[in-house]
Amino acid sequence: MAYSGSVIEFDSRHIWHPYTSMTSPLPVYAVKAARGVRLILDDDRELIDGMSSWWAAIHGYNHPRLNDALRAQLDDMAHVMFGGLTHEPAVELSRRLIDLTGAALDRVFFCDSGSVSVEVAIKMALQFWHNTGHPEKHRLLTIRGGYHGDTFGAMAVCDPVNGMHSMFAPVLAQHYFAPRPETPFGEALREGDLDGFHTLLARHCGELAAVILEPIVQGAGGMWFYSADYLRRVAELCSEFDVLFIADEIATGFGRTGMFFACEHAGVTPDILCLGKAITGGYMSLGATLTSERVSAGVCAGGNVLMHGPTFMATPLATATAVASIDLLLESPWQQRVAGIERQLRSELANYADHPAVLDVRVLGAIGVVETREAIDVALVQRRFVEAGVWIRPFGNLIYLMPPYIIEPSDLSQLTKAIELAL
Ligand code: PMP
Repeated sequence: MAYSGSVIEFDSRHIWHPYTSMTSPLPVYAVKAARGVRLILDDDRELIDGMSSWWAAIHGYNHPRLNDALRAQLDDMAHVMFGGLTHEPAVELSRRLIDLTGAALDRVFFCDSGSVSVEVAIKMALQFWHNTGHPEKHRLLTIRGGYHGDTFGAMAVCDPVNGMHSMFAPVLAQHYFAPRPETPFGEALREGDLDGFHTLLARHCGELAAVILEPIVQGAGGMWFYSADYLRRVAELCSEFDVLFIADEIATGFGRTGMFFACEHAGVTPDILCLGKAITGGYMSLGATLTSERVSAGVCAGGNVLMHGPTFMATPLATATAVASIDLLLESPWQQRVAGIERQLRSELANYADHPAVLDVRVLGAIGVVETREAIDVALVQRRFVEAGVWIRPFGNLIYLMPPYIIEPSDLSQLTKAIELAL
């Protein structure tokens, strides 16, 4: 199909985009195809993708293995209800996910997005305590600077100030927020950094169902990488104070931080794990909430059921694509690739650390962040990036790169060079 200017016109008048206004929309660009690490615009301009479509397209776009898996599944069935029916792609995907957790988390709930996997995790935690005789344990503890999704349960554990949802505060469930961990990744826990968390946990454990956080990398809440010691201590304290530990690995899962799951940096296993984004290599919307036999037994104690069942639960198309994506990832030298990206980001972004407009530069795995002193004019900077042939989408005062793992060094260099334009 040939796109014309009218696509953009119609779009700007009628279609909502993420986190934008319908009355003064940000500019959008029409994409007609995507291949490898390139997005192809309607006017045939090619942009090097620095975003992996928000952590998801880890293998790049239009990958023959994923295309084949999707087509093959389509010939059998696109979707069937999951109530009372099952299918091989769901079973094969569950097998792989369970293996990836070292069989520690062997009960799998599929849903259709990251936010919903967080909703399910919260429900599981509350229901676990309710059905094991502790209905008073119904609140959550989290850390500031977090982001867990845009649905109501998830919004209630996003950072209350920079979490984009402050206007809903009066109607959100009330939870506890510990200070953001200040010890950066790679450093031993700084004296006192855990105190706020420890105090809240000790004071409120009687009413706490779970602690929820993004392990190691806080994404949309500020792109902050914190100490593995902090995470390790959180996991220890959760078991000491008898509170479940929910890890939201929706952004960090599937290798992005250099470990398959970010929890591995601290050698911890959560009680409940949320997955999404890269689970299908960025092809289909799919979320998963994994938990242990112990937690699932509590959730279902007394003959109770988990009252959640999305229409598009474990769709054959999404689960078959996820199986292919995970196999592709595990067969690939993903650790070397991510380590290579990390090395290159470290060396090339280091140039910006002394720039007067820059507050901080940080890199972990295949994630590079340049934090600016002032908020970025997204529309202006976006246009400059597109003119320079790259796709980088800043927010707030953060310019960040999280390219597909298959990116070539020369393309990655174009991305890192382009950041100069924004500064
Ligand atoms: N948790 C984290 C850590 C995320 O980064 C996101 C998405 N940005 C979500 C939850 C929500 O996922 P989704 O957008 O698929 O609902």
